[in-house]
Amino acid sequence: MTISNGTSVSVRELRLNYGNLEVLKTLNLDVADGEFLVLLGPSGCGKSTLLNCIAGLLDITDGQIFIKSKNVTWLEPKDRDIGMVFQSYALYPQMTVEKNLSFGLRVAGTPKAEIAERISRASQMLQIEPLLQRKPAALSGGQRQRVAIGRALVRDVDVFLFDEPLSNLDAKLRSELRVEIKRLHQRLQNTMIYVTHDQIEAMTLADRIAVMRGGVIQQLDAPQTIYNRPVNRFVAGFLGSPG
Ligand code: ADP
Ligand code: MG
Repeated sequence: MTISNGTSVSVRELRLNYGNLEVLKTLNLDVADGEFLVLLGPSGCGKSTLLNCIAGLLDITDGQIFIKSKNVTWLEPKDRDIGMVFQSYALYPQMTVEKNLSFGLRVAGTPKAEIAERISRASQMLQIEPLLQRKPAALSGGQRQRVAIGRALVRDVDVFLFDEPLSNLDAKLRSELRVEIKRLHQRLQNTMIYVTHDQIEAMTLADRIAVMRGGVIQQLDAPQTIYNRPVNRFVAGFLGSPG
């Protein structure tokens, strides 16, 4: 199978079942290099499942997944050149922020000087320098999520996967961090796949939105196109389109 140049993540004929439950139904998706793609849909439609398949955290039932033209379908998460940020932060509670940031790099054998350099750059970008010696329990939700984003950032990967990273935060923090994630993407120009059930997040962040329902992508288009020309009532209703 050939994947066109300029494609960062390609999902081919992906199916995922939990027992008899068909969660993803022969799903295809191509994400361009440097694109900010949002997976939007109601709770239970399969967004996290799709993201976890791309990350390599689930055994798929059928299909193939390519990252940067490489078939990663059977590769471990750590060999997939991706960084992932979860809703629940998933920080190591016993480690300081600095150790949380460096952990993956230390495991990978990155030289100390380079680890320090990358942590310094990431913590500057995310304004978490004053927090480096604290432990997660001593951080607010917003601070924890910055650290979680930092942990993906220091790994210097091409593809970031976000699973509802802001949904545990209050409205004010949510909109602040939304702006920062957008800025981060403009600066890094990497590929981002961002899961949310929040229409405003989708509309403000996405280059393109994939609207999902029941394990199927119903429409994949630029935000304005989806809003102005929804393909069906479900998409229109979910986006709150006029008419
Ligand atoms: P979303 O992230 O869009 O809310 P999920 O991908 O988490 O949806 O879940 C999709 C469907 O798969 C739901 O019906 C959910 O109940 C089901 N599901 C998720 N994880 C499991 C699991 N480990 N075992 C069985 N069913 C699951
Ligand atoms: Mg989910």
